[in-house]
Amino acid sequence: MSWEENVRKVVPYTPGEQPKVKNIIKLNTNENPYPPAPAVVEALKNMDAESFKKYPDPTCDVLVEAIADFYEVDKENVFVGVGSDDVLAMAFMTFFNSDKPVLFPDITYSFYDVWAELFRIPYKQIPLLDDFSVRIEDYFGENGGVVLANPNAPTGAQLPIDAVEEVIKRNPDVVVIVDEAYADFGGQSVLPLIDKYDNLLVVQTFSKSRSMAGMRIGYAFGCKKLIKYLLDVKFAYNSYTMNMPALELGSLAIKDRAYFEKTVSMIVNTRERVKKELRGLGFEFADSKTNFVFAKHKEKSGKEIFDYLRANNIIVRRWDAPRIKEHLRISIGTDEEMDILIAKLKEFLG
Ligand code: PMP
Repeated sequence: MSWEENVRKVVPYTPGEQPKVKNIIKLNTNENPYPPAPAVVEALKNMDAESFKKYPDPTCDVLVEAIADFYEVDKENVFVGVGSDDVLAMAFMTFFNSDKPVLFPDITYSFYDVWAELFRIPYKQIPLLDDFSVRIEDYFGENGGVVLANPNAPTGAQLPIDAVEEVIKRNPDVVVIVDEAYADFGGQSVLPLIDKYDNLLVVQTFSKSRSMAGMRIGYAFGCKKLIKYLLDVKFAYNSYTMNMPALELGSLAIKDRAYFEKTVSMIVNTRERVKKELRGLGFEFADSKTNFVFAKHKEKSGKEIFDYLRANNIIVRRWDAPRIKEHLRISIGTDEEMDILIAKLKEFLG
């Protein structure tokens, strides 16, 4: 007998590389290339470290209120966490306690199966079609819950919201989580459906469209009962998930609608331009509604291109996994960064 027999053994999620060196073009973790809203930058300069003596507000009121105001929902419809990873982990723990499998696609955010394993939740990964689209009928059978990233990651493909609604409607006895980490870049959210379906949890984040990945702020919307259950689990686990700067700076970030809309549209414009360039260079991809493109070259292997870019100080993301090993997930950076990427690809594929 050894203590090791009682260890909860897990295969952890592998996050994208965060290189320590500068002068690298980092297109591997879908960060936003633009700074957070000006009020965030200003408030951080004036932040008083004395305030760190105290615990932060466990109910996260300023942030919850700012999010509720922006999206025109009640405070009781909002849950916040340490990035959407924390929100999703809490949601898996709270809602998926059935013997039936939770369903999600085979190609999707690779944290879902890690949480399922961690929390001992049965799950089934359902193959996407060859064009990486979701066949919604696959989610109509008996199950313990459904998780759909929409737009999906790493494919970038968007499922029309009436199709998502159909999945929610067909699964009234389980919770359906719609992970909208990238929805701001495609403009379609199922948030308005939280009043119609009490089994819907919509999860979003400050990490992409609000340029605050380093602050770790995620949030979710659902009916009041759903959010209350999530809060009970949170308060049974850790009262102080959100630190004081995240609460304050997050609430300032979300108040600046104009800056948010401007930076999102800059990224969308760059993305559309990059799509054309990539197509011209012989790449194929599902149409992306996110801040990345998941592309495969007609001739060169994913690994060859990945290694060439890496050698030229450009990092993109690649998985050595079935069905997607020839693909590269390229985050959308500034126009200047993307010009360098395209120039390097032209040199290589030329
Ligand atoms: N969902 C999806 C689909 C993602 O790609 C990511 C980013 N890795 C997350 C959730 C988590 O993002 P964060 O914890 O930074 O909010």
